[in-house]
Amino acid sequence: LEPQEFKRQAHLVIDFLVDYYRNVENYPVLSQVGPGYLKNRIPDSAPNGPEPIENILHDALIGSHPRPPRSSRTPYWIGLGKCSGYQSTSFSPEGGGGVIQGSTCDALLSTLVAARDKTLKKIGGNGINKLVAYGSDQTHCTFRKGAQIAGIHRDRIRAIRTSKANAFALSAEDLRVAVEADVKSGLVPFFLCATVGTTASAAVDPLGPLGEVAKEFGIWVHVDGAYAASACICPEYRGFINGVENADSFSFNPHKWLFAGLDCCCLWVKEPAVLVEALSTNPDYLRNKVSDLKKVVDYKDWQISLTRRFRSIKLWILLRSYGVANLQQLIRRYIKMAKDFELRIKTDKRLEVAVPRNFSTVCFLISPILIRGENQVSDDQTWINNLNAKVLESVNESGKIFMTHAMIGGVYVIRIAIGGSLTENKHINLAWEVVKEHVDKAMLLAA
Ligand code: PLP
Repeated sequence: LEPQEFKRQAHLVIDFLVDYYRNVENYPVLSQVGPGYLKNRIPDSAPNGPEPIENILHDALIGSHPRPPRSSRTPYWIGLGKCSGYQSTSFSPEGGGGVIQGSTCDALLSTLVAARDKTLKKIGGNGINKLVAYGSDQTHCTFRKGAQIAGIHRDRIRAIRTSKANAFALSAEDLRVAVEADVKSGLVPFFLCATVGTTASAAVDPLGPLGEVAKEFGIWVHVDGAYAASACICPEYRGFINGVENADSFSFNPHKWLFAGLDCCCLWVKEPAVLVEALSTNPDYLRNKVSDLKKVVDYKDWQISLTRRFRSIKLWILLRSYGVANLQQLIRRYIKMAKDFELRIKTDKRLEVAVPRNFSTVCFLISPILIRGENQVSDDQTWINNLNAKVLESVNESGKIFMTHAMIGGVYVIRIAIGGSLTENKHINLAWEVVKEHVDKAMLLAA
């Protein structure tokens, strides 16, 4: 938004809120509408183009009068699902269910608990010490944390090694080897966390082959697409989630790369009943007629906490104010900027791209070969890592741009993640100038 338009819209929102509070006494205290009231008024797909703020506020007023529903229903999710192509999989509104939670950590813990209880139902509650959960050494630490909270023994949370040869994706063959070894030892594999867009390098685990192994052993598959799955709203990137139809659950965070405000994590589960069985509570003080008659979905039973924020309103406003076509264009723009940056790295002989780029994150480093000469590549990985760490430190100290780092396979890499809503080509040009300047300095020191 242009600053002037932003100001105008912000004033409209303030007026809207002031009017609401000015008239609040005129509104009934209790909701005057029945279950399904909102669902029937909301289109089941997101608009392609942006809509004026006036229309959105007008509709929000209809939604909030007499009272907004505190527990969001799924139409916003359906809109997202449609633009991401999940609908053509078993992740259709008919085949599963969605809930908006706060973070991937919440989503993983909820699904781990559901999968745990499903398996314990088969093998008996005493079997909890036998349960094994699998991820890779690139899986986000929320997986381990969630598994530990769910009562899985620390020694039974596997971080299967990945390698540069596999672009740091989890190999289905390696999963099979690990699972077979555990089964042989009398353990019970029950959960796999596969990632689309790992935190360190945005690697993509092969969902199809992993799902086949998991199916064979009755393992619940969760797909963590926290950052990168947002790209799948563009048809040309949907291939990254091929095989998601084999998964039991799937989550991604529109607050990471779909421009939603914190916090917002969309979680789909194939069998909501399993999740609800694991998480439901029904004390007398929460009981009400419509819930007892099963006329509404009680989302308190789909998550850890009971109280919920009205997160779907964010997605609803986001989808309507941008429109799908604009969101797709933004994703494409960031990926294009990342491609341009990657090309500059590739054409500078002193630098190398550390891992193949999939989305809008580029991982690079000062080439060890260049520093020590073709025939004298140093074994001293620590020395090279420190040199790259110094480059990153001085780049960030410049105050002009901010980059991060990751250790991938023992190698320190510098990461530039492009996706800020205000990022433009000029910032990428600046980033490149700053990187070159600090690499020059580092090379002088290293000489
Ligand atoms: N999974 C992946 C792949 C991530 O990149 C991140 C955060 O960067 C997370 C999970 C953690 O997400 P949250 O903070 O929503 O729990």
